[in-house]
Amino acid sequence: MRAEIITTGTELLLGEILNTNVQYLSRRLNSMGFDVLYHTTVGDNPERMQAVLEKAMERADIIITSGGLGPTRGDITKEMVMRVCHTESYLDLDTWGRIDAYFTKKGVDRPANNDKQAYVPLGAEILQNDVGTAPGLWLEYQGKLFILLPGPPSELVDVCEKQLWPRLLRRFADHGVILSRTLHLRGLGESLAAEKLDALIVAQSNPTIALYARYGEILLRLTAKAADEAQAKAMLDVCEQQVRQYVDEYIYGVDDATLAACLGQELLKQGKTIAFAESCSGGLASSLVTDVPGSSEYLLGSVVTYTNMAKNKLINVQQDTLNRYGAVSRESACEMAVGVRRLLGSDLGVSITGNAGPGASEGKPVGLVYIAVATEDVVYCQEHRFASTRTENKLRIALAAISMAIDKLKEEKKNKEA
Ligand code: ATP
Repeated sequence: MRAEIITTGTELLLGEILNTNVQYLSRRLNSMGFDVLYHTTVGDNPERMQAVLEKAMERADIIITSGGLGPTRGDITKEMVMRVCHTESYLDLDTWGRIDAYFTKKGVDRPANNDKQAYVPLGAEILQNDVGTAPGLWLEYQGKLFILLPGPPSELVDVCEKQLWPRLLRRFADHGVILSRTLHLRGLGESLAAEKLDALIVAQSNPTIALYARYGEILLRLTAKAADEAQAKAMLDVCEQQVRQYVDEYIYGVDDATLAACLGQELLKQGKTIAFAESCSGGLASSLVTDVPGSSEYLLGSVVTYTNMAKNKLINVQQDTLNRYGAVSRESACEMAVGVRRLLGSDLGVSITGNAGPGASEGKPVGLVYIAVATEDVVYCQEHRFASTRTENKLRIALAAISMAIDKLKEEKKNKEA
């Protein structure tokens, strides 16, 4: 079953907002076994939107639109779909009542132009929107299925999860499913991973194996196409076992796993606590660690010691060290890690100091970063070079610190056991 997604809105074309709806819709449709063949984005222009819809009717069976169901004149998706399906609309009193109730509940006057959203194309069925005013619409015309969804991501997801997906699966019950599983690997580079898995990747067909690198980890996505979910799952189980024969020791998690969650599991397993002293990462490593529910079990606290004064006053980095070597140095990183460990009484102290860019500081190059991990007996320090934008550097740096903390926890445990 061929699907095309049409996202509408001039902000998308201008690059003002990221097209997250297309990502969500594609993932979900693919995972349910629909072949998403085209993504099209078009602005709020009647002629161009009509052309895009007509093109989609030539090459897809299911045409999903997002956006343009709002109350203003610029919201034209419904009108354009009605034009290509040669249908008219009527005022749907149920929808009118629901929109009225929505505004009453919010305690605000109902804007007059909202009536527009209560008009439903003849022959269309309503996909109720519980979190906004524009309902989704389901319209079949000459063997093509049009699905119209509201643009705001929270509304689109709500309509899809509650109304659309169950209905779509019922409507196309016999078309099979596509299931994916993502294995997360760390501790090896992309080329080494590709080399180790070369034989499997070359021989792949169903399931397929896709390998890609992302911020300090390697992802392996296994995708199986089968008649039903149980069969697809069994195929993925077999494929995962084959992959594990080559790279088992590098796999740290499956599907929604994150490096921060992996660090949390390791700390919990060892009954240890951690604290961060962050400079150029501005608290991002700690933020990622606290994204994991239950992180208060092991993260005692963190300090963002952005200036030399803060490094000195809060975690006792010696003024002499800062003067002699600079804040971006192995020496300062080590003192920061020791200092925060002492300040908060944690088992591990992790520090990050560097230059995230875009300009050089202290005469040190952009992207130069030192990460240190202090344990009871040892302080480890690594030098890194990052070469992205400031924001991306910060994320890479934070993840590198989390990764290093995992490594050192594991290494220390291994050494103690040996
Ligand atoms: P509304 O009733 O709020 O006008 P709508 O169905 O007309 O909803 P749009 O006006 O196209 O939808 O989009 C509303 C908002 O939803 C946009 O300003 C944008 O913030 C967000 N949005 C729209 N399309 C997308 C998309 N493809 N990805 C992410 N966000 C989007």
